[in-house]
Amino acid sequence: MDLKNLTIKKLYDGLKNKTFSALEIINYYLKQIEVKDKEIGAYLFIQNKEELLNQAKLIDEKIKNNTLEILNGLPLAVKDNILIENWPTTAASKILENYIASYDATVIQKLKQKNVIFLGKTNLDEFAMGSSTENSAFKITKNPYDLERVPGGSSGGSAAAVAADLALAALGSDTGGSIRQPASLCGIVGLKPTYGAISRFGLIAMASSLDQIGPLTKTVEDAAIIFSEIYGQDKFDSTSYPLNEKFKFEILNPNFEEIKKLKIGLPKEYFVSGLDSKTEKEISQAIENFKKLGFEFKEISLPHTKYALSCYYIIMPAEVSSNLARFDGIRYSRHFNEKNILDLYLQNKSLFGQETKRRIILGTFVLSSGYYDAYYNKAQKIRNIIKQELEEVFQKVDLILSPTSPTVAFKIGEKSNDPLQMYLSDIFTIPANLAGIPAISIPTRKYQKTSKDLPVGFQLMTNHFNEKNILGAGLLYEQEYLN
Ligand code: GLN
Repeated sequence: MDLKNLTIKKLYDGLKNKTFSALEIINYYLKQIEVKDKEIGAYLFIQNKEELLNQAKLIDEKIKNNTLEILNGLPLAVKDNILIENWPTTAASKILENYIASYDATVIQKLKQKNVIFLGKTNLDEFAMGSSTENSAFKITKNPYDLERVPGGSSGGSAAAVAADLALAALGSDTGGSIRQPASLCGIVGLKPTYGAISRFGLIAMASSLDQIGPLTKTVEDAAIIFSEIYGQDKFDSTSYPLNEKFKFEILNPNFEEIKKLKIGLPKEYFVSGLDSKTEKEISQAIENFKKLGFEFKEISLPHTKYALSCYYIIMPAEVSSNLARFDGIRYSRHFNEKNILDLYLQNKSLFGQETKRRIILGTFVLSSGYYDAYYNKAQKIRNIIKQELEEVFQKVDLILSPTSPTVAFKIGEKSNDPLQMYLSDIFTIPANLAGIPAISIPTRKYQKTSKDLPVGFQLMTNHFNEKNILGAGLLYEQEYLN
């Protein structure tokens, strides 16, 4: 069997039917990483080989004893802002260069119970701030479709690892598009669940009212399977929401007759200027494909989404400036031989990269007295209007389709000196974070790495906790056009 086409279900079936062993699977991925990751640069840290092989042996025991369950032995990559106990966790920042996590994130704990095998930690923009992974303090990750281009960000390492087959799936985090945009640029699937669906305990906080953890996978089916194992309430994250077993059942067993009746809205404001021609063409084709599957489309209007980006770039830095205050050079930190406390602060704070500093300064400014009402409070009001507007649209349609990113993967260095151009990468993804609704990015078709055919993804959004709708519609699309 060609392991390139492995999915979570194929892994489970193959292990169970003894087509391959868990040991062979882990050896395959280790080899892939050894051969390709020098070029791609997806990983910041790779788990020790002996440890990985021991875990694989445990899975092979399970196969022998007939106790194998889905996800057992899944070779997973984890974005390096999610804690795994006793593993280095840097958030791609020099300030955390020597930090070793002292506990597991809740998602990690859940996946450990399923005997998932964590291959390593993946690269990101420092503290998840960026859209290209170029803001990492350690290295640049390349897009597997064209090594001169970025993989997107901030979960660029996770997306590149899955796209280059250096892991079967990965975890990422999404505050303004960081799962969906790199998924789109790397030709894979990325799901940002509803705010509160998955516990963020053990995720290094960027902007707490927007952050969400989610899967990056080769298929919609894989995204649904991973999501179904990591959602749920957690006493360590007071924003997490109780969801029952019915929620899981509906995610894993979509009722396609019902799904086909869902109405898809096309926001007229999203299809005007700024789209590159390839993106426009691919998205039109995706719309045609959905029509052929029997979906009905309706034009909708979201007039206030044009303020989403500005609103995000006030609320997000405000929360960043508060969350990053904990990196004071004493806790979590590297140790210097500072002469005094001022010296300690100065030495450590200078370890933050340029973009991180920019956002801390911006955030401190919008929260300062005198500017608080003019900026922060106003942005909160606009955020509410954007939420309400989406609420109203979901009275008329069930899903909203748009491009995930306005452009295909751009060249390394192309936007790194122009923060505004970089920020525009998230124009379609930010509204879902502001409103807390779920959204997924899915490739419009199969893309070939050999012909430098740069991938385009479409985004589906839906109302709170209706993941079954975007996953169901995505699965139908996948079965027809991506197999
Ligand atoms: N690219 C966006 C930003 O730089 C989103 C980041 C994210 O989702 N973590 O803020």
